[in-house]
Amino acid sequence: MSTLPIVQVPALSAPGLLSVAPDELAAWLAEHGEKPLRARQLRRWLLQARVDSFDAMTDLPQALRRALAAAFVPLETQVARHLTADDGTHKLLLRLCDGKLIECVLIKEAGRRTACISTQVGCAMGCVFCASGLDGVERNLTSGEILEQLVRVRNLPLWERGDRTDQRLTNIVVMGMGEPLANLDNLLAALEIAGAKDGLGIGARHITISTVGLPAKIRRLADLGKQYHLAVSLHAPDDALRNQIVPTNDKTGLAAILEAAEYFFEKTGRQVTIEYVLLGGVNDAADHARALARLLQGRKAHVNLIPFNDVAGLSYRRPSPEALAEFQTSLRRHGVSVKVRKRKGAQIDAACGQLRRAVAAS
Ligand code: SAH
Repeated sequence: MSTLPIVQVPALSAPGLLSVAPDELAAWLAEHGEKPLRARQLRRWLLQARVDSFDAMTDLPQALRRALAAAFVPLETQVARHLTADDGTHKLLLRLCDGKLIECVLIKEAGRRTACISTQVGCAMGCVFCASGLDGVERNLTSGEILEQLVRVRNLPLWERGDRTDQRLTNIVVMGMGEPLANLDNLLAALEIAGAKDGLGIGARHITISTVGLPAKIRRLADLGKQYHLAVSLHAPDDALRNQIVPTNDKTGLAAILEAAEYFFEKTGRQVTIEYVLLGGVNDAADHARALARLLQGRKAHVNLIPFNDVAGLSYRRPSPEALAEFQTSLRRHGVSVKVRKRKGAQIDAACGQLRRAVAAS
């Protein structure tokens, strides 16, 4: 008699609970003879109680827990890599159900715990200095996948300290992989849950959405009347240079983007941040600073200067310390509010899109 070898059948990936549409979950609960309020209980376990197994959901009947476990998984992403930098920045590489990889980051500063999240696998915008767009876009993330990044990142401090007190996220920046406004509906659905009191409790005022500048979508966001903070990636003071750095600019142009930003300010009362990545020898000259100041004259905007973070395979370089200081001084002299973004997590390839590429290539 021979014994047959045991074949390890890979588990079929069931949908994560946060990815199940509310009406589908309600229908599933009804089919199983459960009241709709169970949906809120489930969400509370995942979002507030940091529980990631059905077994631990102790106020649910055993039979329901078993039925849930047969149909769903609590969280559907897997942590493929977890990197920590000396400055307390964490980066997670998450594997999605279809095997695709995305990045999200936890940045800890005095009194703040900020999650930086992705909205797409890759990016279609093709900004020449950015790692996320080097291979184009593969797909939009679902709202569940966007929400799970927040949960995964929020759950991180537990691993470190083993305590469950005051480890809430305070802020979200949508500055990971992808163009958020190209996946606006899914992003808004996720942020709505993140903002809810029985969700993660992070209100719109503490959420920054960074965009390459899609005027129609900026207007749509403004019309929602929410208090999101908008950051627009300008990177150049004129169309000729911006067309070279941000290829999508030839379809939009700076004027339409700035008008949309103005509209956002009028509608929401929130000042827009202009992001400007400084690429040594490309857009960091004194002339560029003067032109940028002229462009922003009379507009309610704040400029964030971001020295380029090295990307493997790209030959752009950081601005010299002198060029950076001069650029900032020049803007200030012209009455423009300006700051240089602090560099976080440089050790762990925190410029988004780099870790994913490195792992995919290895
Ligand atoms: N698609 C959105 C989000 C991109 S990431 C947008 O364009 O705004 C957030 C910011 O990081 C953007 O301003 C982006 O241009 C910038 N960025 C991307 N790669 C970078 C790099 N290697 N060094 C410095 N900043 C970078």
